[in-house]
Amino acid sequence: MAEKGITRRLLKLTGLDNVVYAVPYTRTLRRVAGLMRLEGRQLQEFQQRRLREIIRYAYDNVELYHRKWRQFGVHPDDVQTIADLKRLPIITKDDLREGFPDAIRSREFGPEDCFTVGTSGSTGTPVRVFVDFDKAMIDFALSEPRYMGGMPPITFRRAVRDCLVRRNVMFMSIFVNNELAYETLYARMFSLMRHTVVDCLLPPAVHIAQINAKKPLYLHTYASVLRNVCIAARESGIKMHRPKLIFTTGEVTDPHLRTLVKETFETDLLDSYAAVEFGFIACECPRHEGLHVFSWKALVELLDPKGEEVPDGQAGRVVITDLFNRATPLIRYNGLGDYAVRKTGLCSCGRPLPLLTRLEGRMADSVVLPSGRMVHPYSLTLALEDIPHLNKFQIRQERPDYIRVLLVKDRTREAEGVSFAPGGNIGRSILTRFGEILNDQVNVELETAEDIPRKPGHRKYATVVSLVQRD
Ligand SMILES: [Zn+2]
Repeated sequence: MAEKGITRRLLKLTGLDNVVYAVPYTRTLRRVAGLMRLEGRQLQEFQQRRLREIIRYAYDNVELYHRKWRQFGVHPDDVQTIADLKRLPIITKDDLREGFPDAIRSREFGPEDCFTVGTSGSTGTPVRVFVDFDKAMIDFALSEPRYMGGMPPITFRRAVRDCLVRRNVMFMSIFVNNELAYETLYARMFSLMRHTVVDCLLPPAVHIAQINAKKPLYLHTYASVLRNVCIAARESGIKMHRPKLIFTTGEVTDPHLRTLVKETFETDLLDSYAAVEFGFIACECPRHEGLHVFSWKALVELLDPKGEEVPDGQAGRVVITDLFNRATPLIRYNGLGDYAVRKTGLCSCGRPLPLLTRLEGRMADSVVLPSGRMVHPYSLTLALEDIPHLNKFQIRQERPDYIRVLLVKDRTREAEGVSFAPGGNIGRSILTRFGEILNDQVNVELETAEDIPRKPGHRKYATVVSLVQRD
């Protein structure tokens, strides 16, 4: 169960955390191996039992659900099967934002008994949730390439050979490296990490040097980082170390990126579907037939605009129910804003997990300054993460030296008097931050908007758009 904050800090200080957590971690690995094998009726029974438990738990312990379900006139007893799930109302990102922290945290957990995780700026609307120890352990175990990519398990002998004899690192993650990022949660749990985390906001040249020096067996990063690394390696003619597998997460992986990765790394790329609110949801099959949903941990509904489940093969809005996290239960959450298509039948690889194709993921372009320096999109989006009452935003580089920032306010009563005007406190603070990141090479203008315009035919909007052509 949840570890007390003080104990956790003491364990970390002494390095004993690695010993203490090795036991639950090994246990979780075995548990995940069992869960990955569930299929047919067994899987369904497991899902329904967990579903009933988490719904009852949320009603009894989390204010948001207790209040919302009572208002809606539903009770945990109304949901006995997965088909009953649609009786419950949808939970939105605004529900989480308004309820943070107390109304979305289970009263069983104090702030010190669980981890706080937040969006990395890629989604355009900042959100924070709480994650409990058990749930974090599950995602940690699931990040093993044998589950994610169907690779052979890492044996003790191989770990010794690769990491001690050859001095390669097992995993390298190039992610947002702050204390709220889900991706760095493991670093917060284990002090001697088997992961090397590199900050994604560093320039591509540093990423290239790190990859080639540490020679990771597995590389996990955002599509935007990978694209910049490939382009920079090609431009400078550097030969890249070849990892066994590269995983991407976050933004969409397009065919162009796959080609770039093949040319640069001569290795395979697997896309994964993960979100700060849920951890891993699905991972691309090594046969590239779609993404396998970890359906023993996340129930995925695909809904039409009326809230009805779409048939297989048709696009629907992703609504997810998490079957594990108790610190902030997420039941029928639509806040990811993603659209996906479910494929009929099982994959030719034989894994008993349903297949999904993601349609439009998060989109974020890098910004290239007039000096030629590249700025990763998340350094800009993260600068907006803690701006109060900012509901959505879009950063648009319209010329090399001109960026327009569209800002959409929360529609709550507290947000009524708030102004994002350039002369106000908030506006000045945004302009100062952007000036520092962009070395004042770019003229930045703020514009308060009613909504972010979408391209025709698109359901999502990009958080950072660069209209400046890049080779
Ligand atoms: Zn498969």
